[in-house]
Amino acid sequence: MAKIKIPLENRNGILHIGNCNTIDLAKEYDTPLYVYDENRIRDNFRRLHKAFSSNYKKFRLYYAIKANNNPALLKILKSEGSGVDVSGPAEIYLAKKAGFSTENMLYSGVYHRDDELKYALENNVPINLEDVSQIERLFKFGKPKFLSFRINPGIGKGSFKGNVYAGKDAKFGIIERDAIKAYEKAKNLGVESFGIHMMTGSCVLDENYFVEITGKLMDIAGAIAKKLNIKFEFVDIGGGFGVPYAPDEKELDIDLIGKNVCEKFKEKIKEYDLGEPILLAEPGRYLVCDSAILLTKVHSIKNGYKKFIGVDAGMNTLIRPMIYGAYHEILVANNLDAEPEEKVNIVGPVCENTDQFAKDRLMPKIAENDLLAILNVGAYGFGMSSQYNNRPRAAEVLINDGKHELIRQRENFDDLIKGVKIPERLK
Ligand code: PLP
Repeated sequence: MAKIKIPLENRNGILHIGNCNTIDLAKEYDTPLYVYDENRIRDNFRRLHKAFSSNYKKFRLYYAIKANNNPALLKILKSEGSGVDVSGPAEIYLAKKAGFSTENMLYSGVYHRDDELKYALENNVPINLEDVSQIERLFKFGKPKFLSFRINPGIGKGSFKGNVYAGKDAKFGIIERDAIKAYEKAKNLGVESFGIHMMTGSCVLDENYFVEITGKLMDIAGAIAKKLNIKFEFVDIGGGFGVPYAPDEKELDIDLIGKNVCEKFKEKIKEYDLGEPILLAEPGRYLVCDSAILLTKVHSIKNGYKKFIGVDAGMNTLIRPMIYGAYHEILVANNLDAEPEEKVNIVGPVCENTDQFAKDRLMPKIAENDLLAILNVGAYGFGMSSQYNNRPRAAEVLINDGKHELIRQRENFDDLIKGVKIPERLK
């Protein structure tokens, strides 16, 4: 029997999310459909915030907007007191539109263009650079009072190779050797206050890692502070808090992480006389991932060398299984009590053989017109979706205590050619 947890519920064999019947949702909005539960996002934020703030008062969360940019979700997180991690001008624009003030943002671009640096500066967004060479490029447009640098502390961890953002193979951040040079240069150019940042990997399910990496960053911060006689306004330990996707993965003990990270942090600020900097974390996945499911209908079943269950979502709708080999639990939403009985491949309509959500997965008997729910899709789900194979993007719905509303309409065929211009001579 499928294992389900909040915000999901099994009511007489029918999957419900946030007190809404998934069959009714599919009927009303059609499929493929992303469905988010507002309360789960709020609970995730509060749990994570409390785990840290109960151990260190000056703690703040900055939601990583790239995980899911839907403005309705941004508004929910803003109302909880979140700031935002933004990685480009468009994310600054979206965060401003959702009502975030620029002082509650941190701009951590990657291999920035000059005009991106200029945009962040002109919008008064605190800037987090990732190389010494970027200081002069930024100063062409003005002198910021504040600067932060993203450190590559030499080790990283993630759920897949592509999710590891620090260490020798990572393209991100400044290595320890150059970090002092970066702060020294900024200080000599008149920067008055500083932050320090890292983001070393995503979907980490090892509690001890967060403590280890915080200690490492704090040792680097301590060495910089001592050599240059500076204090840090904040120390940002990044995101990366994992959520279990596969049945054998365990939920993080977030209270333990909060307690141990804060203890390490306090021990190190004392050791290096760093005062009382703000402790920042910038999670994406942890806040939104398990708030959402993707509803998709079975249209075509084929018995070939294998049994293929064809659904109307594809790699264009959710690409994590195809690019990372990521596991997502899949339920038969209209028949939750059925026992697993056969191995099948669950596949999409895209003309690529990588377009498979599950391979040789033991599932209950599935029939045409069944409704499937793919779980844990709130982070890097819709945000990574595309129009590949000329398939308009899915709709998004938000649930709040049994009520549901569309928060992004389904794209139509015209959206596929939005912005396209045909040269006069070809008309
Ligand atoms: N901060 C930065 C700079 C990132 O690049 C990311 C994700 O790539 C995050 C935060 C959020 O990571 P996660 O969703 O793993 O918490």
